[in-house]
Amino acid sequence: MRTAIATLALLACLGIPAAAQDFLKPLEEFVETIVPPRTPAPRAQPAKPEPAAPAVRAEDEKPAPPPIPRPRPETLNDQEAEAPAPEAVEDAQEAEPAPDAEAAPEKAVAPEAPAVASDDRIYQTACPALLSGKVVGEMLEPIAEGICGERSPLSVTAVNVNGHQIDFSAGVTTNCEMAGALADWVGAVDAYANAALDSPLASLETGTSMMCRGRNGNAEAATSEHGFANALDVTGFTLEDGRRIAVEPNWLPAAAPEGKMLRQAHGAACGLFTTVLGPEANDSHNDHFHLDLGCHGQSCTAQICE
Ligand SMILES: [Zn+2]
Repeated sequence: MRTAIATLALLACLGIPAAAQDFLKPLEEFVETIVPPRTPAPRAQPAKPEPAAPAVRAEDEKPAPPPIPRPRPETLNDQEAEAPAPEAVEDAQEAEPAPDAEAAPEKAVAPEAPAVASDDRIYQTACPALLSGKVVGEMLEPIAEGICGERSPLSVTAVNVNGHQIDFSAGVTTNCEMAGALADWVGAVDAYANAALDSPLASLETGTSMMCRGRNGNAEAATSEHGFANALDVTGFTLEDGRRIAVEPNWLPAAAPEGKMLRQAHGAACGLFTTVLGPEANDSHNDHFHLDLGCHGQSCTAQICE
C-alpha cells in the first residue's frame, strides 16, 4: 500500500493532468482508510507499558513489596524536586563547622569511637577439663580487682576421678590450670585413702580460693596467687565411710594411717603444683595445704614443696 501512495505522489510530481489526479483521489482516500496515518510512535508507546503492567501484576500476586519501589522513586523525584533546599541545608551544615577550628577535631574523634567499642569484646578461653567432665563446674565472668583478676575463671564444685564424683565442701573459684591439677591430685589422694584407710574419698574440704591479698595475708607483701584464681587452700578430706581426715588434727602423729595419708597427699601435690605449703612450711599453714601454680624461676619450672 505504501508503494501505491508513493506512486500517486510520483504522478503528482510528474505533472499528471488534474483530471487524472481527480480520478486517483478516490484511490488515495481508499488507501488512507486502509493504511492508518503514520502513527507508529503511539503503538510503540502502549507496547512498553503493556509488558510492564503484567509484570507488576505478577509481582503483586506474590510479594507485596514490589509495588512499593515504584512509589518510592516518585516520592524521591518529588523530594528531589524539593531537595535542593535540604541539600543546601546539609551543605550549609557541613560548611558551617568547617570554619570552626574546634568543630573539626570533634568530627575526627567520632570515627575512633567504633574502634574503642571493638575492644569491649570479652576474650575467654574454654577449659578442656571442664569440657571432658573431669572438672564439674561452670565458667564465670572475667574477674578484675585492681592488680588481681582472672580472664577465664571457673566455679568448681566437684571432680570426676577414678570412676566416681568427689564433691568440694564449697565451690571454689580457680583458673583452668588449677582445676585440672586439682582433679589429678584428688584422684591420687583418693587412691591413697583407699589403700591406707580402706575407703575412697567422698569430698574435699576446701578453704580460700580466689582472694585479692598479699602473700600470707601480708598487705605489704607481693600479691598472693590467690589473687589470680591460681591457688587453693585445702583443710582436709571426708571419706565415704564418714571419717574426716583434716590437716590440723591429723598431720601428727606422722606414723598414724591418717598422718601417712596426709603426707602422701602432700607429696603427690608437689608433683602437680609449683607451690605446696603445709604445716612444716610455717605457722600460717598449720591447718591447711596451700596449693598453687605460680611461676618460680626464669622458666617457671622451679617448685616449692614445704
Ligand atoms: Zn593459700
